[in-house]
Amino acid sequence: MTIIGIDLGTTNSLVSVFLNNECVIIPNALGNRLTPSVVGVMDDGAVIIGEAAKERLISHPNLTEAVFKRHMGSKKQYKLGEKLFSPTDLSALLLKALKADAEAFLGITITEAVISVPAYFNDHQRRATKEAGLLAGLKVERLINEPTAAALAYGIHQANEEKQLLIFDLGGGTFDVSLLEMSDNVMEIRAIAGDNFLGGEDFDEAILHYFLEQHSLKLEVVKGKWYSMLKKQAESCKVMLTTEDQAEMSFVYNGHTYKTMFTSTDFETISTELLTRLKVPLKKALNDSGIQPKELDHVVLVGGSTQMPIIRSFVARLFGQLPLSHINPDEVVGIGAGIYAAMKERNEYLRESVLTDVCPYTLGIGVVNDVYAPIIERNSVIPCSRVQRFINAKDYQDVIEVDIYQGESRDVKENLKLGSVLVPIPRVKSGEAVIDVRFTYDINGLLEVDIYSHSTGETKSLVIQNNEIHLSEAEITIRLQELAMLKIHPRDDARNQLLLARAGRLYEEALSESREHISQEMERFERALDTQDPEKIRKASVKLSQFIDQLEAQGLW
Ligand code: AMP
Repeated sequence: MTIIGIDLGTTNSLVSVFLNNECVIIPNALGNRLTPSVVGVMDDGAVIIGEAAKERLISHPNLTEAVFKRHMGSKKQYKLGEKLFSPTDLSALLLKALKADAEAFLGITITEAVISVPAYFNDHQRRATKEAGLLAGLKVERLINEPTAAALAYGIHQANEEKQLLIFDLGGGTFDVSLLEMSDNVMEIRAIAGDNFLGGEDFDEAILHYFLEQHSLKLEVVKGKWYSMLKKQAESCKVMLTTEDQAEMSFVYNGHTYKTMFTSTDFETISTELLTRLKVPLKKALNDSGIQPKELDHVVLVGGSTQMPIIRSFVARLFGQLPLSHINPDEVVGIGAGIYAAMKERNEYLRESVLTDVCPYTLGIGVVNDVYAPIIERNSVIPCSRVQRFINAKDYQDVIEVDIYQGESRDVKENLKLGSVLVPIPRVKSGEAVIDVRFTYDINGLLEVDIYSHSTGETKSLVIQNNEIHLSEAEITIRLQELAMLKIHPRDDARNQLLLARAGRLYEEALSESREHISQEMERFERALDTQDPEKIRKASVKLSQFIDQLEAQGLW
């Protein structure tokens, strides 16, 4: 059975499959290898995904959502039109579109996928990702840590050489570091570290804030649509600084044009704080693995944001070597997910290869005075199972509450609470009731907790806290039906929807005469669509596409 690999990214997503001994990236309906992780609802309630939805982010901010990955596993709800969606729902709609692309490409039904997640995704976020898969009609038996996937993509063809690699993965919303050691077809992840809230978006924000400051504009004033436009301008400015020495950002607001010219040096200065934050996970991963920076054979760059020259020079300075990036940084995680999917399929070509991963964070329980007692230390090789013994702290207490946490702080309140288990014990003096707490951390990064009470002979298991964010089987069935009732824009109409969305965005950005012109062209195209005559639609779409390209090239709006 064919299993697909999916990189469910904050900004873009990608689906891949292992064919003829290599990982192939599957194009979407528009022929693109990356699909923007954006979901929107049209005025008629139909759902659109990817490029067309991305185009409508600015023109229809209330009907479009992006960066929902940052809120996976939380209770956040998004209102799109009349309907409410959780981050899991939006991810499910995106996964459904990727599944459809894979099915169209392979000509078979796909029911199983390996999905990559940031190493620092916690238990809730991982479970939410698996649920999104289920809602999209995909069994997700394996999640793979993004830096591990990237390491796999780089390591797979040189796994029998002895090498140590550091993978530096800076995406749209997250930063992951992993250290990989390879020899004899065994790829061993030695350490993982990261920051779940540090990525390209933060560099956009830094530019945006600097711009507002320069013009004494207040963020509270520039809200909604204006904010999205500014954000887009800031991102374009950042991307331009990848190839140019300077880039201008301009913004028309309340009839006034604000302009700022950014040089590469300005950008580096604005980003100083973010660059400093990047060092924290790097140090942690190196310390944990016991690998010295000078022992690294290669530093590998992954993720869209590593295209920024300030990142490349930062890495080169820090490690004293030029980083590698010969696999497209936007695609490397998706390729790794596809390879892992093939390993799971027991593909002949990969039969000899072995991959071991680690637990990215420490897991433990809270004891007296809110002190943290680690049970599984971060960067332990997984799957792993550890047991520790605890006693009752007070005389005659009849229950021990075992609170389970993830994190590194000695003060449990600073760590993330995953859940708690109440263990009944006999009323005895302190120290006389003994329990064994066993943590089992599986290959997908999911935790199971079993607590054995010596006094009663009973075993209790973890009940996940914040249960309402996870769906029971019955709830999944209902949600599946609800999502199935949503009208999804037909895949073969994607190109036309994108054209209309692009034209709509230009209309929003334009004024007076240009606006009228765009409106006429859009109407002409809509009339052609109404005829349902493929030839008429094809001709009209070529015309509208040329018109838009011309307008964009001239910057007429
Ligand atoms: P990813 O999550 O890996 O897809 O990375 C997406 C991030 O990469 C976004 O923040 C993009 O703005 C950023 N990005 C993509 N291309 C470039 C580029 N050429 N220069 C700078 N940043 C880029």
